[in-house]
Amino acid sequence: MIKKNNLIFYFPIVLIIVLILSSCAAKINIVDKPISFSQDREELTKLYINDRYGSQAEHIQIIPKIIVLHWTAIDDFDSCFNTFNRERLEQTRPDLSGAGELNVSIHFLVDRDGTVYRLMPETMMARHCIGLNYNSIGVENVGGENNIDNLTDEQIEANIKLVKYLAEKYPAIEYLIGHHEYREFEGHPLWLETDNSYRTEKFDPGERFMSVVRNKVAGYKLKGVEEIRLEKGIE
Ligand SMILES: [Zn+2]
Repeated sequence: MIKKNNLIFYFPIVLIIVLILSSCAAKINIVDKPISFSQDREELTKLYINDRYGSQAEHIQIIPKIIVLHWTAIDDFDSCFNTFNRERLEQTRPDLSGAGELNVSIHFLVDRDGTVYRLMPETMMARHCIGLNYNSIGVENVGGENNIDNLTDEQIEANIKLVKYLAEKYPAIEYLIGHHEYREFEGHPLWLETDNSYRTEKFDPGERFMSVVRNKVAGYKLKGVEEIRLEKGIE
């Protein structure tokens, strides 16, 4: 039986433990705003996996190992959402259309005020990064029009929280890269694209954004360019 005096004694200790535990978990507010993902888009995703990665996909579930951060190169949220909402690639993307009809997609879209929207389930494959779609979770930031870094402090804060949330939720996540660094994975065991001529040049989200985010999530020991190069050297 717990005496009243004991309760008075233990209550502050319990309170401190609860506060410590709650401050460890990454706190983030995510707004679900699903893009259209019909059976047709799922079938196109399987086709993409089969054609690009040379494996017979029976499902489109992934085990995320990499986080890839982006900017959309469009400064308006609605335009970005509408782009990802289409299931089939538009004729205006000749750079990508040779690689299948599946439209581009992304797991998270961060608005300029830092609001985080989840556009599709985190463990379904999105088309956002050549060679790495089957292993990665993608985060797009609204901005970067004309390849100018105009990403906001609110977006930086949101990306830091999101990276922490994902790293805690998925222990298999070992890497954090910016889209402009994706080609560092060529020749690495996680790289899956089989067509050596299928590449696009990327500048997003740039060094400034990546270095600030990386500094703030350093405790998670996520690997970047240097570690990827080292791993390729010893493979
Ligand atoms: Zn990108």
